[in-house]
Amino acid sequence: MADYYSEKRREYDARVAADPMGPLPRPERSYKYDVIVCGGGTSGIAAAVAAARGGAKVLLIERNGSIGGQMNVSGPPGFSYAYLYNARGERVIDGFIGETHRRLMEMGHARPSDLNEYRSGSDYVFSYVDPEWWGLLMFQIMAEEGVTLLLHSLVVDVIKNGDNVVGVVVENAEGRVNFEAKVVIECTGEGDIAVRAGCEYELLPRDDCEPQSVCFTMDGVDWDEFLAYVKAHPDQIDPRGNPERSKEERYEIIRNIKDVGEFCEIMGFYNFLKIAKANKEWHDFAGMGFFFAPRPDVGRYQAHFQHSAQVPGIWSCDPWDLSYAEQEARRQCVIAANGFKKYIPGFKNAYITRVGVELRLREGRRIMGDYVLKRDDVANGQRFYDCIGKNTFAAGAVHVANANTLAVGKYGYASPPDKGSYDMPYRIMVPRKVENLLIAGKHVSAERATYQRFLQETMVTGQAAGAAAALCVKLGVTPRQLEAEEYIKELQNILRSQGVILEGVH
Ligand SMILES: Cc1cc2nc3c(=O)[nH]c(=O)nc-3n(C[C@H](O)[C@H](O)[C@H](O)COP(=O)(O)OP(=O)(O)OC[C@H]3O[C@@H](n4cnc5c(N)ncnc54)[C@H](O)[C@@H]3O)c2cc1C
Repeated sequence: MADYYSEKRREYDARVAADPMGPLPRPERSYKYDVIVCGGGTSGIAAAVAAARGGAKVLLIERNGSIGGQMNVSGPPGFSYAYLYNARGERVIDGFIGETHRRLMEMGHARPSDLNEYRSGSDYVFSYVDPEWWGLLMFQIMAEEGVTLLLHSLVVDVIKNGDNVVGVVVENAEGRVNFEAKVVIECTGEGDIAVRAGCEYELLPRDDCEPQSVCFTMDGVDWDEFLAYVKAHPDQIDPRGNPERSKEERYEIIRNIKDVGEFCEIMGFYNFLKIAKANKEWHDFAGMGFFFAPRPDVGRYQAHFQHSAQVPGIWSCDPWDLSYAEQEARRQCVIAANGFKKYIPGFKNAYITRVGVELRLREGRRIMGDYVLKRDDVANGQRFYDCIGKNTFAAGAVHVANANTLAVGKYGYASPPDKGSYDMPYRIMVPRKVENLLIAGKHVSAERATYQRFLQETMVTGQAAGAAAALCVKLGVTPRQLEAEEYIKELQNILRSQGVILEGVH
């Protein structure tokens, strides 16, 4: 396991120890950086840290006042860190995501990866982190690693010299400002900047895109009453865990559950759904269900709803669509919260404690790169010379805005052979035609069926893009030239030293 006490963090810790209540030093104001990261979601944070650890002078630009993107600003996700293990129980993903998980566990704000009986045998292993503390830790890590933050600032364009991106244009309270960079990393999730740079992309017709959502969280649930109901009616729940178990075996596991959080996620409530719909007290865009958001330091749970407000037919790159969806999703949130209070045992006194401040965007553009990750790569457990991380997440499932929510298999559901893993190649981050630009996050180059949009995937590509950008600066090469085998080996050594898993699991 990598030592996540970088030299910079040791310096930070020593400074804080000398003056525990002292303020953070103000960063130098500069308009010239080695690496500029656009977007401060999970991919952008991982990229900025990895680039700084590679010795680069790094600026992270984010349009919001907070970093974290879908992890905490518009989240939290139902399963915060999932799929770090494959269904055989082998660790598949580590590195920055593992480091932050371990740090939060040490602080009492995360739970160990959940390999409980209910989940066992599935690849759906949860590793919960508290999203609020996660967000606070991310700010601290930026300070530790010396990443300069420019928040409340929208990147609106790139500056180009021929095909080379040499900087970005930002709009903020200072006006329209130019920043120079040797390498730019595009982590906006939607690829707005990549498109302005002239990159090729794929975007489905509006009506084919997965629905976009607003999440909300409820507190004040009587979990004893809730669990008693579920144990008495396991047939009302969509059972998870090893798919080879019979229904009766799964029901028996449900009857034996001691801690309600073992479910991690619960969907179904079929009879209530039928009645609520007949009474016009549940909308047509989702089934009934929620995720358990643990607050590990106080040992209790919140119910987190991320599939209860789903707006179909929305293009993530159309502000008129987005404005409509923000409104429609909140209408659905109200219906869903009231529906739970009225129908679901234990929810009578529940109340909303958090509504996502903006839509969570499930599907948008994918930026086409030197390699396009395919559904068959997942099915074949493909190995690549330029592996920058492992993945076990299946391909082919698509969300729909109806009671089925997760409609599996539109493109043929595909898992890696023997419940193992496949490689994520570096080239999915190198956009065609445009130089000095790397893409990390959910819009990397992949077929729709292999969309790399889950949090753990975005942190893998983020960390690799940051390390690659710093290496490009050091070697004086472009991200595309870095695809050469000799450079890739150097990149892989850096990633290994940062705890990334590149081999040893199949
Ligand atoms: C409803 C829903 C549920 C999900 N549930 C899960 C789950 O349970 N588990 C899981 O692993 N994944 C889940 N996902 C997927 C996952 O949360 C996201 O795909 C992932 O967080 C995306 O990370 P990212 O870094 O690519 O983008 P984001 O987190 O979206 O970050 C992009 C950042 O860029 C900023 N930005 C955008 N444009 C600009 C600009 N021009 N200038 C400056 N800043 C800009 C944004 O403000 C944002 O902070 C879910 C997604 C949705 C929509």
